[in-house]
Amino acid sequence: MAIEENLDNVQQRIRTACTACGRDPEEIVLVAVSKTKPNADILEARKASQLHFGENRAKELQDKMEEIEDDEIRWHFIGNLQTNKIKYMVERVDWIDSIHKKKALKEVEKRASRIGRHINVLIQVNISDEDQKSGCDPDDLEKILTYGQDLTYTHVRGLMGMATFTDDKEQVRNEFKLLKTLRDEHLHLVDGSVTLEHLSMGMTNDLEEAIEEGSTMVRVGTAIFGERNYT
Ligand SMILES: *Cc1c(COP(=O)(O)O)cnc(C)c1O
Repeated sequence: MAIEENLDNVQQRIRTACTACGRDPEEIVLVAVSKTKPNADILEARKASQLHFGENRAKELQDKMEEIEDDEIRWHFIGNLQTNKIKYMVERVDWIDSIHKKKALKEVEKRASRIGRHINVLIQVNISDEDQKSGCDPDDLEKILTYGQDLTYTHVRGLMGMATFTDDKEQVRNEFKLLKTLRDEHLHLVDGSVTLEHLSMGMTNDLEEAIEEGSTMVRVGTAIFGERNYT
């Protein structure tokens, strides 16, 4: 499979989307979502200079990291995070993109401070109309961000959101707009460990809309590694 070519295509899509709205492509971090895919695929993407990789299952991430052992890779955990897995993540990943509770933030800080390791986190917000999509309620953001200000090892770098799975591009766009608005409305809470410079939104099917609406981080799986057999 032509992963290198796929990566080129995705980068081209990012550049085109940036040009269309007058943004600098350098502002966009591409996270290659390698969930369910073998290490050989990750290594192929790595050879094509891809640095950020995203995984959504703790055990799978653990196995992959142990086998690949590449210090340059920036691993993102993008899945549903159970409290008992936080210790493991904090010891290894660079980013946890899917924090949606103050309690989880507290646990990340506790574990990170014990080992003196800094970790970047994004607060996942539920912007879709699907109940099963995780993320905090927009009304909880203020409480979570305020708590994040005084942390030392945990850096709240921004917000993450997933749009509704639908062909209705207007709806998707409106959900991205909502995430951007939520970020802007909470900029007064930028202080200490809360910086909020990132908006992680946009995947294979909606990265153009996401970039036009202000995304700084896109999480792309299928367009790089091909279809998955399971999610
Ligand atoms: C799987 C996944 C992606 C990538 O989705 P594609 O449509 O394959 O690009 C992005 N974000 C999260 C949180 C995911 O679980």
